[in-house]
Amino acid sequence: MRKNIVAGNWKMNNDLADTKTLVSELVDIEKTSNAEVMIAPTFTNLLEASKALKNSEIEVVAQNMHFAKNGAYTGEISATMLKSVGVNTVILGHSERREYFNEDDALLKQKVDTALENGMRIIFCFGEKLEDRKSGNHTHVVKSQIKNALFHLPEGSWKSIVLAYEPVWAIGTGETATPAQAQEMHLFIRNLALEAYNLSVADDVSILYGGSVKPENAKEIFSNSDVDGGLIGGAALNAESFMAIVNAF
Ligand code: PEP
Repeated sequence: MRKNIVAGNWKMNNDLADTKTLVSELVDIEKTSNAEVMIAPTFTNLLEASKALKNSEIEVVAQNMHFAKNGAYTGEISATMLKSVGVNTVILGHSERREYFNEDDALLKQKVDTALENGMRIIFCFGEKLEDRKSGNHTHVVKSQIKNALFHLPEGSWKSIVLAYEPVWAIGTGETATPAQAQEMHLFIRNLALEAYNLSVADDVSILYGGSVKPENAKEIFSNSDVDGGLIGGAALNAESFMAIVNAF
C-alpha cells in the first residue's frame, strides 16, 4: 500500500538558528493528516534537526549525497556520514542538482546504488523542462530519466524508492502543473513501473508532485488518484504554509 508523503526541501536556506526556530514551529502545529512528513535542511543543520525531531512524526532527510563510500572528494558528504547523524532518506536528482551541478542519469544511477547499499530510502526527482513540454517531448524525457537511473534495480529495492515528478518549469516559478497535467504524468509514470516490473511495484510506489505547491492548491493536486503527495520548496520555509500542505490530505 503506497503512502502519502509531504517533503519540504529547504534548499540553501536557514542557518542553525533559523533551523531551530522552524523546527520548533513545525512541531507546535497539529498534524491532522495521514501523510508522512519529511524536511530536508542543509547538511550543517541535519544533526540539530534530527535531534530536535527525534520523538516527532517529522523525518529529517538530506538534499543530496555523494556516490562514493569515502575518500578524496573534497566538500562532499557520504551515505554513512548522513546515517551517522540520523538521516536515512536522501533526495537525489533534484533539477537544481542536474542543472547547476551537471548531475546526469549515469551519476544519479551510481548515487541510487550507493544509497540503497547503505539501506537508505531515496526520493528520486525528475521532470521535463519547458522546451520539452512545448515540443511534446515531456513523457519521453521523464521516461528516460527514470529508466536510466532506476530500472536496473531489482524489484525488492523499490520499497525504498519514492518518485518525485517535478516539471522544471513549475519549480519556484509560481506556475503549477494543472491537476490534470499532474495526474496524466503520474499515471504515465505508474504505467512505466508496471511495464518494467509488475502491478505491486506500480501500485506501491509513492509518486510525489513538486512545483509551486502552496496551501491554496495542495488539496486539488493531492486529490488526484496517482498523486501521493508533494515535494515542497518555497512553501516549506514557513511552518504554517508547510503544515497546511501536509494537512491538505
Ligand atoms: C522544489 O524545488 O523541489 C520545489 C518544488 O520548489 P517550489 O515548491 O518552490 O516550486
